[in-house]
Amino acid sequence: AGWPSQGRIHVQDLRAGYAVDLPPVLNGVNFDVRPGERIGIVGRTGSGKSSLTLALFRFIHARTGSIKIDEVDIKNLKLQDLRSNLAIIPQDPFLFSGTIRSNLDPHGRWTDKALLDALRRVRLVAGFQDASVSLNGTLSLESPVTRTNLSQGQKQLLCLARAMISQPKILILDEATSAVDMTTDSLIQKSIREDFAGSTLLVVAHRLSTVADFDRILVMSNGQVVEFDTPHAL
Ligand code: ATP
Ligand code: MG
Repeated sequence: AGWPSQGRIHVQDLRAGYAVDLPPVLNGVNFDVRPGERIGIVGRTGSGKSSLTLALFRFIHARTGSIKIDEVDIKNLKLQDLRSNLAIIPQDPFLFSGTIRSNLDPHGRWTDKALLDALRRVRLVAGFQDASVSLNGTLSLESPVTRTNLSQGQKQLLCLARAMISQPKILILDEATSAVDMTTDSLIQKSIREDFAGSTLLVVAHRLSTVADFDRILVMSNGQVVEFDTPHAL
């Protein structure tokens, strides 16, 4: 606990790939993010946006270079410490077969009130009707989650709720590509602005307009950062 206290990110000469026998998909990435900065990440499909977010969690491995968060090189951290102290909402979240509770709070760290508050804030009560999560309008933490009973957008909302509870210093959101409905999309956009004020935000966006009010935009192409400036300057 205690790390990261600020939310500063320093990526230097990062090269990374999905397997040793595959070519790297990040080809020398360099950038710095200040504590509390809100960064939009854009670029064409296949440019490496999701790969960059995965490298921050060591889901893909750096071959050269380093990622430092608040001066700590993440390769020196225990995976559990790294992953439990940053929050990510992946493009296509992986949920465990289990319950809402086991996905929201796998280590049993939070109160029911905290869990339910977060679910209400992402409005999953209504969204989960079909998954028979809502009984007489009461959300149950023990309701089942399977690989197939939630949409990609609903999975992202569940991840968002999980992130809200832990109030991370750094939040990484990789927007779903498949059509998330407009209500879900605006809910996510509103939440990252209101519920994570003060956190460092890295948001992979498919439309520049989504992140036009952010501090800086990082443009990726072919596994490299080709521009990194304020939305106004781009
Ligand atoms: P999109 O906008 O479509 O989400 P992206 O910018 O997120 O694209 P990445 O998913 O990071 O792009 O892909 C970058 C490169 O990594 C691509 O060449 C892709 O084929 C490759 N890649 C992505 N996932 C894997 C994987 N699981 N195994 C091997 N290569 C992968
Ligand atoms: Mg992607």
